[in-house]
Amino acid sequence: MATIELQNLTKSFGDLVAVDNVSLKVEENEVLCLLGPSGCGKTTTLRMVAGLEVATSGDIFIGDKNVNNLETRDRNLAMAFQFYALYPSLTVAENLANPLHAENLSDEEVKKKILEVADILQLKDIVNRKPHQLAEGEKQRVAVGRAIIRDPECFLFDEPLSRLDVQLREQMRGQIKEVLSDLKKATVIVTHDQLEALTMATKIAVMRDGLIEQVSSPHDIFAKPNNTFVAGFIGTPQMNILDCNISEINSSIIKIKVLEQEVEIDFKTPLSVDKNDNYFIGIRPRSFELVDNNAPDNFSGKIELIENMGSEILVHVKINEFTFRSVQSRSSKLSIGDNINLKPKKGQVHLFNKDGEVIRNE
Ligand code: ATP
Repeated sequence: MATIELQNLTKSFGDLVAVDNVSLKVEENEVLCLLGPSGCGKTTTLRMVAGLEVATSGDIFIGDKNVNNLETRDRNLAMAFQFYALYPSLTVAENLANPLHAENLSDEEVKKKILEVADILQLKDIVNRKPHQLAEGEKQRVAVGRAIIRDPECFLFDEPLSRLDVQLREQMRGQIKEVLSDLKKATVIVTHDQLEALTMATKIAVMRDGLIEQVSSPHDIFAKPNNTFVAGFIGTPQMNILDCNISEINSSIIKIKVLEQEVEIDFKTPLSVDKNDNYFIGIRPRSFELVDNNAPDNFSGKIELIENMGSEILVHVKINEFTFRSVQSRSSKLSIGDNINLKPKKGQVHLFNKDGEVIRNE
């Protein structure tokens, strides 16, 4: 069992700083998801941990050992960079056994390990098939099996589910999570899919432009974003984030001026903010109540678009130049052109300063 620790890790490609002074620790039984938009440096970070890329500066520790100068094969990691790289001419059992070749195990021991892994991943009935005879989800499980069969110290996965269709992804997310939580090894998963990160990770590191923006539990990364980037990146539909000016402060209650409308928000405990200064307010689309009257604590606007989301609808409400997105129940019987009043739910409004850093996540 080992931890993975990155200390001030930087990787430059010429003038481009792909990974910028990243420090992170993944505990022995943690699954850390590196999450961020394309090009933010996730894969480069993972490749440095794997020893496939040499860091420009900084240190990588696996357990207590600094592995900066160790070859990939000496780092005792299991990697699944492409889950589909199965050997087409080998059976499932032979594919699973492949990583064991260097371990000098007896045939009996190899067979036992194959059976163990096939049992964990529900592959027992298909061990004699070849990859072309497998469904996508089965191929995926074989690839995971190949990564876990060797009992390495830690696991690295790059976009593990990116090639699967929506239904299979959902299924596999749960299955991989279960397997990883049984294995209790430090694991790093790279993904740009927030649902994947929110369901599989015990800890999420959100990256942007080579920098780590926030490292938190899946719950906190959603409920307590450090800044407007994380707030806007996590959660679908996306959080409504808008500029506002504070026109009145009365202990925990502030009056914000948003494009001609003034709305009162109660943050429950006193806030340290300045009157007439600019801030950002963040409200998730599921954090509005539909109310009948236009009171001081709600926004009023006109519905300009309604999107069908199955049992719910996504209502676009135009308030002056800004369009709020609000998720409402299908039974709310709203129509385009209706004037409606939206009240932010208590304790679900986020306030950020003008640099986008959080002041209050309620
Ligand atoms: P994606 O989700 O699209 O895979 P990512 O977050 O994994 O993106 P990286 O692949 O780590 O991002 O790339 C980070 C930055 O470094 C990008 O701007 C990329 O173009 C650049 N980069 C990556 N590898 C190299 C390389 N070998 N040479 C030059 N630039 C590189």
